[in-house]
This record gives sequence, C-alpha cells and structure tokens, in this order.
Amino acid sequence: MLSVNKARQIISAQVQTFSSERLPLSQVYGRVLREKIVNDRDQPPFDKSTMDGILINADEYRAGIRFEVLGTIAAGSPSPVRKAIKSTCYKIMTGAVVAKGYNAVVPIEFVKMEGNSAIVSAGLGVSPGSNIRFQGSDSARGKILVGPGEILHPVHIACAASTGQSYLNVSRLAKIAIVSTGNELVPVDRKKIYPYQTRLSNAWGIDAIVRQGPLAKSKTFHVKDDPDSLYKKLKKVLSEFEILILSGGVSKGDFDYVPQILNRLGVECLFHGVSQKPGKPLWFGKSPKGRVVFALPGNPISTLVCMYVYVLPFLKQCAGSSPKKEFVTLDSETLSDSSLTRFLPVRFNKNPTEGEVVIQPTGGSGDFASLSSCDGFVEIPSGPLQRSKALRVSFYGW
Ligand code: AMP
Ligand code: MG
Repeated sequence: MLSVNKARQIISAQVQTFSSERLPLSQVYGRVLREKIVNDRDQPPFDKSTMDGILINADEYRAGIRFEVLGTIAAGSPSPVRKAIKSTCYKIMTGAVVAKGYNAVVPIEFVKMEGNSAIVSAGLGVSPGSNIRFQGSDSARGKILVGPGEILHPVHIACAASTGQSYLNVSRLAKIAIVSTGNELVPVDRKKIYPYQTRLSNAWGIDAIVRQGPLAKSKTFHVKDDPDSLYKKLKKVLSEFEILILSGGVSKGDFDYVPQILNRLGVECLFHGVSQKPGKPLWFGKSPKGRVVFALPGNPISTLVCMYVYVLPFLKQCAGSSPKKEFVTLDSETLSDSSLTRFLPVRFNKNPTEGEVVIQPTGGSGDFASLSSCDGFVEIPSGPLQRSKALRVSFYGW
C-alpha cells in the first residue's frame, strides 16, 4: 500500500497556484502574501532621538556643564535650521529629529533645568550617538521586509503600513465544496435524534480548518448513501467548485458508494488507501476539468488527521506558501513497532518537561471527546522505532 510520503508527493503534484487579489490592509490578516513588502525609505528615515531629554554635542559633555537651551524639537517637527553653537542644546522629544551639529541625547531625568539653561549630571558616559537611532540603521531603503509566500500576521501588516502600502496582493480564496455522506447522520440542530443516529460533525470541523487563514470560501452539503443522489450532487458541485472535500463512504462497506460514483463522473483516482492509522481508506483524485477531490474516511479522528496531514498543506501550497513542519519531543517508551504510519493524539506535558508531548489514549477513530482535550497529534513513522525516550516527531497542532 502507498506510503504517507508517496501520498504527499502525489497530492503535491496537483498543486495549482491560486490567482491573487488586491485587498486593503484591514482584510489581509492570515492571507498569503503574493508580493514583496519593500522599504520605500530608510528606517528610521532621519536621525531620531529615542528619549525625551536634551540634545547636545557629546564632545562638550563634562560634569555639571551648563547648556543654553535654543528651543524644543517635538516629534513630527522639521529639524531647526540655525547653525550649531557651542555650549547650546535643544530640548528634544522621543521620535524627534536630531538637529545638525549635535550628536547625543541626555535623558531628561539627568538634567536640571534652571531658567533657560540645562545642567547635566556627572558620570553619564555620554558619547556620540547616545540615545539616537541613526538614519537607515534599522533597515535601508530598498530592503525586502516581507517576501511572497508569508502568511500575513500583525507585524507584517504593520510593516506594510510603515512602507506606505495600504493594499496588498494576496492569494484569492479557493472555492471549496464540503460534502458529507451517511444515512445515519442528522443535522446539529435536529431536536429529535434516535440512539442509532449520529450528529453530523465532520463538515463543521473541515469547514473550520479550511477557513483558517482564511484559505477558502466553503459551502457544506450532505448526501444520503444513495448512488443516484450522490451522482447528482457530486456532478453539480464538480461543476461549481474548484476543490471537493468529501467525508465518509470510501471504505469497504455495502453503502460506501463514493469511489464508484466519482469513477462514473470521470474523476481519475490517483490513489485509494494509504498505509497509515487512522485514515487508511483515504481517496484522492482529479476530475477531467482538473478539479481536485479529497474523499476522506468518515470517522471523525480519521477525517481530522487527513485534513491536517494532506488537505491543509495542499491548500497552503496552492495559496503560494510552503507549509512549515513542526517537531516535538515524545515522552513515551511504550510505543511498539508498526508497519503503518501512526497519527496519535497528544497533549503538551506541562510538568516537569515543558515542550514534551505525551500520547493520549482514545477510544478509537470515533472518539471525539478525548480528542478535544488534546493539543494536536504526532506522526510516528512506520517500521522499527528507535528505542529512545525522547523521540523527535512531526506535530500537527489544531
Ligand atoms: P464511513 O467512513 O462513512 O464508513 O463512516 C465511518 C464512521 O464515521 C461511522 O461511524 C459514521 O457514522 C461516522 N461519520 C461519517 N461521517 C460523519 C460525519 N460527517 N460526522 C460525524 N461522524 C461521521
Ligand atoms: Mg458512511
């Protein structure tokens, strides 16, 4: 059976980069940047005081020296135009321009004001550049502050604003149809529910995952395990959406019609089955029009695992970003060897070793309740395990 890595490769080969759209800064949080954010001027753009104080010439600093105050330079005011004069100073505010001929700021708490004079304290170690950020010392004009492919966070957005970019090019959202299947499933808000029925939960989890970022605009549908209904619904969504995520109906049960219906619709199966637990029956394919279809096994934990391991990285790649791998240390000696790659729910160990995770027992791939108290899951490679207590493994956080 196909390995997890081979499945990843087959999925990656279907990545098609989404087009981009131009959005105001207020709407770009979490979106993938498709251009560069470049410094349009030096940062800081002028020699800038970092303290409220007096601006002097450092060469003139001696204990107890008296400087005549020529004026006050406030943040946002241009630099005074008069030439520097010996034994003079300016009162200067944080963020204000350093006047030519002066090169050090003495913080106001070390200055005594007497009429129009400022007397500075002894032993301050004042030198050229004290409490001044020189023009371009943070970053020079033309420097790339944020590159394409970054998922925009608040600091990136503030950087864009500082460089005068009020709009940014970001990946547009994918149009995704989420189709769950199963006769036993009833909507969340159904008042009457029989013991043999299950509330439809996968579509909600899938929807929340694809809206992360956000990466997609999604719409959810539900279909009974009936070949005709399934055929009609899938035909319709294949014509209206660019990516399909199905849940349920891909295993070997009598009512698992999804693979055969996709086949009838001409969707090419690129793989069916991966040597992993949970999520083994995963089905992946492509329609004649190039629409990608993920058909995930319906067990809630399998669905979530397949979403985090395959679908989310695929969507990020289509949006132009390279998904980052996270690793954690596993605090467990009880693992056995396995021919399957395993995805096991974990919780961060608060005590005694921060950063380590501990595997949480669950009642199988339908056990939602245990999963909700976990922080994510880890990937345990197949084959013989290294017998080390501190095993480094890939981590997928919620
Ligand atoms: P299936 O993959 O269709 O054989 O479903 C496997 C198990 O997952 C069954 O117990 C289903 O009731 C359950 N299941 C399937 N789809 C969903 C769903 N959308 N929400 C919650 N449970 C589901
Ligand atoms: Mg089913």
